[in-house]
This record gives sequence, structure tokens and C-alpha cells, in this order.
Amino acid sequence: MEARVVPDTPVEFLKGVGPGRGGLLSENDLKTARDLLYFFPYRYEDRRHPVRISDLRRIDAPVTLRGRVVSAGKKVSPVKRLRIFEVILDDGTGTIMLVWFNQPYLSDKIKRNQSLAIYGQPRISNHGRLQIENPDFEILGPDEDSEDEGTIVPVYSKLANIHPRAMRRIVGQALDALPLLRDPFPAELRRRLDVIELHQAILRLHHPPELDDTFLSGKSSAHRRMILQEFFTFQLALRLRRASEEQKSKDRTIRIDEAIRERVRSILPFSLTGAQKRVLKEIAADMQSDRPMYRLLQGDVGSGKTIVALIAAVIAIENGHQVALLAPTEILVEQHFQRLSQLLDHSGLRIAKLTGSSTAAERRTLLAALREGYLDLIVGTHALLEDAVRFKSLGLAIVDEQHRFGVEQRQRLFAKAAMPDILVMTATPIPRSLALAVYGDLELSVIDELPPGRLPVKTAVRGTAQASKVFAFIEEQAGDGAQAYIVYPIIEESEKLDLKPLTAGFEMIRERFPNLNVAMLHGRMSSREKEETMAAFQKGEVNLLVCTTVIEVGVDVPNASIMLIMDADRFGLSQLHQLRGRVGRGTRKSYCILLRNERASEDAKTRLRLFEATRDGFEVAERDLEIRGAGDALGTRQSGAPKFRFGNILRDHQLMELARDTAIEWIEREGYVNARALALSLLPNASAVASKD
Ligand code: ADP
Ligand code: MG
Repeated sequence: MEARVVPDTPVEFLKGVGPGRGGLLSENDLKTARDLLYFFPYRYEDRRHPVRISDLRRIDAPVTLRGRVVSAGKKVSPVKRLRIFEVILDDGTGTIMLVWFNQPYLSDKIKRNQSLAIYGQPRISNHGRLQIENPDFEILGPDEDSEDEGTIVPVYSKLANIHPRAMRRIVGQALDALPLLRDPFPAELRRRLDVIELHQAILRLHHPPELDDTFLSGKSSAHRRMILQEFFTFQLALRLRRASEEQKSKDRTIRIDEAIRERVRSILPFSLTGAQKRVLKEIAADMQSDRPMYRLLQGDVGSGKTIVALIAAVIAIENGHQVALLAPTEILVEQHFQRLSQLLDHSGLRIAKLTGSSTAAERRTLLAALREGYLDLIVGTHALLEDAVRFKSLGLAIVDEQHRFGVEQRQRLFAKAAMPDILVMTATPIPRSLALAVYGDLELSVIDELPPGRLPVKTAVRGTAQASKVFAFIEEQAGDGAQAYIVYPIIEESEKLDLKPLTAGFEMIRERFPNLNVAMLHGRMSSREKEETMAAFQKGEVNLLVCTTVIEVGVDVPNASIMLIMDADRFGLSQLHQLRGRVGRGTRKSYCILLRNERASEDAKTRLRLFEATRDGFEVAERDLEIRGAGDALGTRQSGAPKFRFGNILRDHQLMELARDTAIEWIEREGYVNARALALSLLPNASAVASKD
């Protein structure tokens, strides 16, 4: 008698599995019937309406065909010395050539007179012959020929040598356990999210009733259920973490009284824009609440985020706490340090900096001062997150221009103090829905207005042939006191950094401008050299700064009014926008000039034209998103943005918002303990959720 398959049945107890295949499946994390239920097909074959080879010349999409092998043979292509395996398939209406490259072992598998089901994109070869290259195939046994006839057949990822049909049978048995699979979503939650039951969704994904556009584009009710399961689980986990942080309320009270307001006014070098005032109100409200702040401050380059952060810092300090400001590069740390020191000059506040290149002695003194509370504000790189860095009372952490600030970094900050307020600043303008997905539980403040008096930066794309004209223009401008950045596309993060194009460029520029002071700046210089060079540029002693994208984020030298970008076709849109944001910060008319190679690709040319015509950071970001896809534009690989098996945060952003709102409501309705129990029951089958790469 056979035991009934239940979700916990180990795979080796399924028919046709046994210890050998059982081991193979387990290695691929398929240990129980439940795991197999979540092992979804990656495509489907519609064997109800088989395509006839005679109809193929009119079809321009991948197709499934069946037929008999009339010949099969290996050969070596004389041109590229590729090893080729060719098969001619006949389905009674015509023949087609199947070609596999460099898979000679296929000749041991595919033989004359066998029946094959194949899947691939037909095309017409150079010889006018109908063929499919590297198709997926399945050998159909004589007796099994009809098993899948007239159905929609799921195709699973191939695991080792398990035949596709065997895999279908194995998964098919697991489907018997479906009625016993408990739906982790209570009926009320399903109603709120408007989703079907789990077992229905799983069944439809293995055996879709119809292969229509709705299904194939991931918009069927089955997909909706799976997407919302992923998104809701993700949002619930985020909100619960947030709720547990909030339960441990802050051990400090922040008050803003007239004395503090006066203090802030005394250090302000200008009056704030309306947008700055608005976000400052939001931040001040967070800081005064008894729950820790976790806020994302978003504003285009040059919108004036720094002063807002400084005011928040003064509020924390005046309330007797310390503040840490984290920046991604030493140059930015240095610049923030300079600027803040200046602004705080007569304030009596004590400020210091810490980077990887601080000496051991400096470090020791600094760490002691921080611990004892002799320092109010510390500016530093990620070195600040190290365990050795302790505070007497860290009240606020500000994270600047940071894509790499994720959950783990936040935990490290929390380890340093009882729930410091956290303010993350970014110039990457991301749509709200994406912000929710990437940062989940941050509150969002946006500075959507530039400081007054900014002249728009004139942007121009020129071919390298016009370089001499561009140089003449720079000479004329420099004669008038303007300063310029000249940026080369050197990727600083790469291991085998090739600085030659930069150093060659530097020599060339020096020769071209013998009367100007030309300096070079890149990430591999010692921090001392970097500091000196930046300081000289800041003071106007250097006219032209030949550099890499180290200056991409945050650098602020108002007198610099020309940004010349060499090989501009090699930069992405967002990067160009960041670079352009380095000029147009002062009173001078500013220029962003992009020199592109004559041989630049059409895509690159289009991108540059688009950039020339677009000033708004949001628009640039959206275009960038279209061109590169979400992952890249957000730098999600660094930020640890979640990836989902079914959900796509761009396509499904409305579902992400629904999941978020519902998660918040659910915690309110059910209470923390129940919601947490639900999250725990969801997580085990959320293998697809929030995988980080
Ligand atoms: P970002 O948001 O890119 O970090 P910054 O904070 O560096 O921008 O500010 C850009 C420049 O604008 C700085 O030189 C800053 O002093 C100046 N600035 C900021 N806010 C104002 C304001 N309200 N009025 C005039 N200038 C401002
Ligand atoms: Mg900045």
C-alpha cells in the first residue's frame, strides 16, 4: 500500500526517486514535497496546438515542435572551428535543421528515428534554410509519446541528468500534497490583499489552465498571489523589525527651545529654502518623538542637504548628545570636515574626523575623546562603524551619499547606542515605490527646490574632433578666473586600476595649458596628497583639476564652473548627472561639456543627446532606469535591495505599496505578537524572498 504524499514527505519516498536522485534533489534544496511545490517551471510548452514545420516561416517567436530524427551527425565548422552537431527533424509537414554548437556529446543521445520535442527560436540561415540553434530538447520514448499530448506541459530547470519527463512526474506527485498544504495567509488577509488561496496558485503555476498574455506576463491571479506573498512577507518583516526597535524607545529626550533656535540661526550662512525648512520640520518632529528616527533625505545634487543635516546635528548636540557623520570617501570626509569646522567655528562645538588613514596615535586619542564625551561631532568613513568606536552618548547618525548603507550597517550603529536617530542622505532620486521596496521602512523627506540664484548649467556634447575649440573656450574662461574639472572614465573600484589614460591626459592638458596650474586627483593617491590637492583647488590655486570620478559625489567648490567629461560615451546617465552637479554651485555661468568619441555607439549617442536635453534629476533617473533596469540604476547590488522570485519592483510597484499598507494595518489589527507569529510561519517558504547577492 502506498503512503499518501504530504507536504513533509521526503523526496526519496516519491515514486521514481530513490536514494540516487533523492541525493541530487536534496543538494538542490529540494528535500520534501513542499520544496517541490515551490520548484516552479521556468517555461511552458503548449502541446495542445503543435506548430507544424510547414507553418514556421511565418512565425517569429520561440516554438515547440515535435518530429522524428531523419539524420544526425557531427562536423567541424571550417570557419570558426566550432564543433557542430546537426539534426534534421521531420514532422510530416516538412523538415527543419537543428544545430548545436560545441556539444558533441549530444551525438550519444540523439539518434536517427527517435522522436523529439524541441523548443527554440526558428530562423532562416544564410543559406536560406530553416533552422533552430541550440534548441531545448526532450527525447520522447515510443510508449510515452502520448503522455503529455494535448496539454500544457511545465518545463523545469534541469537538475543533473534527470530527464525532463521524470522531473515532471516527480513534481506531479508532490502536487498530490497540495490539499494538505496549509495556507499561511488567514482568510481575512487574503480578502484584504484580494488574492486566491495558496494551493490554487501553486497548482496553476505548475499547470496553467491557459497560456494567455495575462499569464505569460506574470499578471495572472496565481502570480498576484505569489507576488503579494513575497512582498507582504518582506514588508511585514521590515515593519516588525521597525516595531521592535520602536518598542525600545529612545533613552533620551530631545527638546528644541528658543535657545537652540537662536543657536541654529547664529550659524546659518544663508536663509533656508522652503523645501529645506519643510524637511527640517519633519526631521525635528522625528527627533523630538520618543521613537528613533529613521529617515531618508532625498534631494538632487546641490539642493542643500548638508546644511539640513548640520542643523539636525546642532539640535542633538545642544541636547547633550554626540553626532556621527558617515561619508563614503576620504575626500568627502575631508570636505565635510572643512565645511562644518568653518560653520561651527565660533560655536564652541568640538569636531573631529576619522578615516582609514588616521594614524594610530590620532585614533587612540580620538576614540578616548569620543568615549568620554569630549567630542560633539565626528566625521568619518566606514571606519566609524568599527567595534572599537564607542560613544558616550550617540544621539544622531547621519549617512551621506550612501548606497552601501544597509541593514547590517544600521545594526552596527544600534550596537553603539540605544537607538540613535538615523538620517540617510541621498542624491539618487528614486520613485517613491522603489524607495519603499529598497529601503522599506524609512520615512522619506524630499528637497525638491534648489537654492535661489542658481543659473542652469549649460550642457553641450561635442565630438573629439572639436577638442581644440573646447580647450580654447576653457582657456578663455580660466583667464577670467573660472576653474574646471576634467574627468576621465577610470573606474576606481576595479582591482587592476589602469591610470594610464588619466596620467596621459594630465600630461596632455599640462602641455596645452602651460600658463595654468593643472593638478591631478585620483583615488589611489595618499589621503594627504588628496587633501592637499583638493585644498589647493578649493582655494583657487589650481585652475584645472584632471581627475577620475572620485569627485562624482558631493564635492563642492562653488567657483568651479566648468565640467569637461572626456570619453563621455563611457559614462552612465546617473553618473553624468552627478558630475554635472559639481558645477553651477556659485554665481558664475557654468558649463558641462561632454566630449564623445567619433566611434561611440548609437546607443551612447542617444544617451548623451538625452542628457543634453534633460536637467531634472528625477527625469534622468527615470531614463536611466529604462535604459539599464532597476538593479543598476539604484546600485541595488550594493544597497542589498531585495530580489524576488515572482515580484518585480518596477512592474509591480503598486502591489508593493499594497503589501506595505496591509502589513502596517495587520500589525495594528493583530498586535505585535500575532503578527510576528504570522511572519515566522511565512518565512520558511519565502526562500524566494529578499535574497541578497
Ligand atoms: P547637496 O544636497 O548636493 O549635498 P550641498 O549641501 O553641498 O548640496 O549644497 C550645495 C551648495 O549650495 C553649497 O555650496 C551650499 O552652501 C549651498 N546652499 C545650500 N542651501 C542654500 C541656501 N538655502 N541658500 C543658498 N545657498 C545654499
Ligand atoms: Mg552633499
